[in-house]
Amino acid sequence: MNLETIRTAFYGGKSYIKEARVLTSKVTHLKITRPPNFDYEPGDYVFIRIPALAKMEWHPFTISSAPEEKETFSLHIRSAGNWTNKLYKFIENQARINDDNVSVAVSGRRKTTVACPNMNNNNLQEEMTQGKPMSEKLQNELKLFEVSIEGPYGTPTRAIFRAEHAVLIGAGTGVTPFASILQSIINRYRLSKQCCPRCEHTWTGVLPPTLMELKKVNFIWINRDHKSFEWFAEMLAQMELEQGEEQGEFDKFFEMEMYMTKELHQNRMRSIALQMALQTLHKSTKKDLLTGLKTRLQSGRPNWDKVFKNIQAQKNGRVEVFFCGAPALSEILERYCAKYDFIYHKESF
Ligand SMILES: Cc1cc2nc3c(=O)[nH]c(=O)nc-3n(C[C@H](O)[C@H](O)[C@H](O)COP(=O)(O)OP(=O)(O)OC[C@H]3O[C@@H](n4cnc5c(N)ncnc54)[C@H](O)[C@@H]3O)c2cc1C
Repeated sequence: MNLETIRTAFYGGKSYIKEARVLTSKVTHLKITRPPNFDYEPGDYVFIRIPALAKMEWHPFTISSAPEEKETFSLHIRSAGNWTNKLYKFIENQARINDDNVSVAVSGRRKTTVACPNMNNNNLQEEMTQGKPMSEKLQNELKLFEVSIEGPYGTPTRAIFRAEHAVLIGAGTGVTPFASILQSIINRYRLSKQCCPRCEHTWTGVLPPTLMELKKVNFIWINRDHKSFEWFAEMLAQMELEQGEEQGEFDKFFEMEMYMTKELHQNRMRSIALQMALQTLHKSTKKDLLTGLKTRLQSGRPNWDKVFKNIQAQKNGRVEVFFCGAPALSEILERYCAKYDFIYHKESF
């Protein structure tokens, strides 16, 4: 038995890409079948290997879906170098040659989705679960979408549900652990909803005990350009929907801020004019034109003193800041946390 086989056999074992999307911001979204007994917590990461791309390469990625999702788990993979670019092209090609592929428009931009043909074939799934022999053609097709998994591994973000006031700061793809946590929060919230048997009105009286110590969550996401906000546009829209439905309860619990650090136009004056136009539009339509979300996308870097002062003034108990992103920003945040006496946790990749 070679080292690769031991690595695969010892941990999660083999899985398959069930669905994949290439996003315009050069990110690949994979939905991978969950192996049996694959238990993880929000914010955990895994090493994956896709033999169709490279037989010996394992790469670490944070799970971006919530553990409550039983059938699959998600990864959002930014095309950073050799392997990740190869993956992006591989999925693009599969979408081109696979008759089942569909394109869906999200917030006015296009995404290409490819569904692994065999995984969505009920007969095949039956054959796999009942251990029936498969035709060679099917076996070869399935091999293309095979994934080996090692993990999951925990990170400091596991501590979020033990914080009283959690401030989640994600930069770029550093948002992935928080995407998992935010989806888990929505799921826990929804499960605790009560429903009136007469009029079917639903409500959440108090914060559900599954949120543990959490009294308040501030989520701050910083990206270079507006395109990257498409990664989790659907999930963030769900959070906003929940805010709208909860009549103030979820509003008080969850606050979101989004920043785009790149200028809207090379010319500074034009950039300012565009920002002002977007601000006016947001005031009248209550929607951000660039992201399609209710939360207004702010231009430039956050004013950390202003952000931290606002958080301190809320007095929701012990404040813990969780950051995931580039080390340079981590150093800045660590200094601000020391200044405001907030507990600091970081994860860099
Ligand atoms: C715990 C953990 C969790 C992670 N989670 C995620 C996640 O959720 N999503 C995600 O997208 N990434 C994540 N990463 C990062 C991810 O693992 C890497 O981006 C990926 O493994 C890179 O593989 P690659 O072969 O494509 O890049 P490589 O080819 O190995 O390149 C790696 C880096 O070197 C740079 N580089 C490559 N060639 C050059 C060159 N010629 N000149 C200058 N620079 C160059 C690239 O820009 C890239 O940043 C995570 C990393 C860790 C450790």
